[in-house]
Amino acid sequence: MEIKADLHSHTVASDGSCQPAENVRIAKEQGLAALAITDHDTVAGVAEAIEAGKELGIEVIPGVEISTAAKGQDIHVLGYFVPYDQESFREKLTGLRDVRHQRNIQLIKRLNELGVEITLEDVYRRKTGPDKNIGRPHIAEELMEKGYVESVAEAFDKYLGKTGSAYVNVERISPQQAIDLIKKSGGAAVLAHPGLYDDDELVEELIVYGLDGIEAYHPDNSPEQVKEYERLADEYGLIRTGGSDFHGYRGPEPFHAMLGSYTAPLDTVAKLRKLTEMRKAKL
Ligand SMILES: [Zn+2]
Ligand SMILES: [Zn+2]
Repeated sequence: MEIKADLHSHTVASDGSCQPAENVRIAKEQGLAALAITDHDTVAGVAEAIEAGKELGIEVIPGVEISTAAKGQDIHVLGYFVPYDQESFREKLTGLRDVRHQRNIQLIKRLNELGVEITLEDVYRRKTGPDKNIGRPHIAEELMEKGYVESVAEAFDKYLGKTGSAYVNVERISPQQAIDLIKKSGGAAVLAHPGLYDDDELVEELIVYGLDGIEAYHPDNSPEQVKEYERLADEYGLIRTGGSDFHGYRGPEPFHAMLGSYTAPLDTVAKLRKLTEMRKAKL
């Protein structure tokens, strides 16, 4: 059996629904050897996951998924082997989360204008994990509970997604700035779910700018796109990563994909580790 790693998962530290240790337990059940915790703009779930990983014999890779914007789209940049215990790095992420909070305020305002009765307090009450890191899935859940939609998918289609009626795009850092932030901290910068952006020019631009890797294996990449990203990775010498983007459960079904359903070979983890060790040695 091939030994695999799921390099993309969310916990209650951002908009996932499982505790960090729970993600690690599921990884163990799925027969994985390694798991990355990549919450949106926070590393608050990493330490707990690493502890759980030590007990269960799962390697936990400290990660983060940074929200950026370019050409009117949300672009996500993954950071691997980031210094999750370093105060200055955490502070930089705190600044990014404030932007997310502002986005939520604007989103709720738009929903109210559309006649949806929902308050920021309703949504923030849903939050139990470390860091007040509220994302659109929390808002979707509230919309479901209030009976405006029947599923999270419908909430994104109708209101919260890129083409939804309440969608707002706030001022965010550029993907290039996120790449710099990650690399200057000694981490590896990887473009998340490139298939979602439908903008090959941008993908190539960011590769040339300095990405270390590309998330070739992700539920939102079509089979044709996977081939294209594998080709790009070879052409530019990028590390091919992969992960499920597991967000836990919202209702009975896993939101996004099940942990372990999209993976990278363990060899990918070794490449990321080697690269970041060399980078950290030069800091
Ligand atoms: Zn993402
Ligand atoms: Zn994600």
